[in-house]
Amino acid sequence: MSENVEFLGSGIFAPFKKWGTKWSLWPVHLVTACCGVELAHAYASGYDGERLGSLNYGIARQTNLIIVEGAISRKMARVLKITYEQMPDPKFVVVMGACGLKGGLFWNGYHMVRPSDVVPVDFFIPGCPPTPESLLRSIRALQEKIMSGKAETTISFDKVDLSEIEGRSSAARPPTTPKFIAPTPSIKVDVPKDVDWEFGKKLVKEFEKDLNGLYNSITITAKNRIAISAEKKNIMAIANILSKRFDHVKNVNVIDLPHENSFIVEYQVSSYSDKKLMPVVVNIYARIPRDNPRFPSLVTFWPSADYLEREMYDLFGVWFEGNPAMGERFLLAPDTPDFPLRKDRKLKEEEYCFCEVRE
Ligand code: SF4
Repeated sequence: MSENVEFLGSGIFAPFKKWGTKWSLWPVHLVTACCGVELAHAYASGYDGERLGSLNYGIARQTNLIIVEGAISRKMARVLKITYEQMPDPKFVVVMGACGLKGGLFWNGYHMVRPSDVVPVDFFIPGCPPTPESLLRSIRALQEKIMSGKAETTISFDKVDLSEIEGRSSAARPPTTPKFIAPTPSIKVDVPKDVDWEFGKKLVKEFEKDLNGLYNSITITAKNRIAISAEKKNIMAIANILSKRFDHVKNVNVIDLPHENSFIVEYQVSSYSDKKLMPVVVNIYARIPRDNPRFPSLVTFWPSADYLEREMYDLFGVWFEGNPAMGERFLLAPDTPDFPLRKDRKLKEEEYCFCEVRE
């Protein structure tokens, strides 16, 4: 068997093998981000990528080309590597988009990985997003590479004198990362004075009666939106009362205010069982000190808070007391820095690079 394969690769049939590979590029696409939409466009009826002998496949064992569609996070980097390892030889990689080249708009994110650090890349397609035409051009370029053994693009670019760009004054360069703590900004939140929502006003009256003495303020912030501010010590009692009418948590958020040394923890609750309450979202929130970020877990009232609370621990380090599943990190890849969404986490200072050229 191996002799036959060798014969095909180097004997008189070698050109046929190349020819067959060239017209059988079956990409497994790693839809990690918005570039995936452009890939869909490239293979839909408008551009019909299939006429170039390239057909999207879903299974790694039957494909020979990975198209990495944009951003690769630390977790997806593992998937990329495993997918690449499952594919039969000869295999190729095309990376789409600014995110795949150098991080794109997530360039200094805690989670970004360059695909070229994980697998060998045959072609990069610049752009944000790249067009379907450019994706198909990369397929053509890859086909040429298979036949000739040379990686050449099908278009030629104007030469740029990089030393000239390097020599520019810093004023002419794109901005670097903004500083990570704003000096006590004065933020004014405009709450509409009177929202035309009769049912909401009735609900607020009922909440004022039911939550007597437990809240700081109850505000209608928009139609179908009510915000209840409270002290941390009253959150459990409020949840106990509201859970009789609102049966699930839609979201748990943490807002980090490093310049005020506090976190705001908020729960958004709603109802699936009461038709009238279905469109209503009630936001219950309280402040906690940033140096002791502990908050009572509300999973006993709303089990759907479980995953969200643990996610907030991973990202901000707020510990939800009473959640039986709280523990070590569960969401982020193992080598991610601790609590990466804390606003005083120093981002990597780096300048956009006009001038990196891969030989
Ligand atoms: S390059 Fe642009 S379009 Fe592509 S994944 Fe990144 S942000 Fe999305």
